[in-house]
Amino acid sequence: MAKKELDTRFSKFGTVSFTSITKANDFVSYLEQGKVMGTRCKGCGLTFFPPRADCYQCLTSDMEWFEVSGKGKLVTFSKLQYGPVGFEGDLPYSIALADFGKFKVFGRLASGIPEDEIKVGMEVKAVANTLPSGQMNYVFEKA
Ligand SMILES: [Zn+2]
Repeated sequence: MAKKELDTRFSKFGTVSFTSITKANDFVSYLEQGKVMGTRCKGCGLTFFPPRADCYQCLTSDMEWFEVSGKGKLVTFSKLQYGPVGFEGDLPYSIALADFGKFKVFGRLASGIPEDEIKVGMEVKAVANTLPSGQMNYVFEKA
């Protein structure tokens, strides 16, 4: 009998991947297709980012994927001068929170945005990104 293979796609996410197996592994495959995706509950319509495989309101797993498209507004950001272990080589970088209306997205600002243009309220879009190591993540670019 063939041994069931583990789905470890999530090990490809982030500068340092903190988990290799999740119930939302498709997220990484979508990133590889250039799409940043969240999940939506088919029952109540709640949207989740990061994607969840289960709805806490309905207690079901009847979810669908949707693309994080359009513009979000920068809610807050912080420029990091010190990074956690494994992220030292990425410094300096800015982490940020963007409001897309029905959900908020936490992520990094793209490194190419001039510092004096980064302001709360700035319009951003979430873009799939491949790191030099081949790992995947997503960043906010100016919309
Ligand atoms: Zn629900």
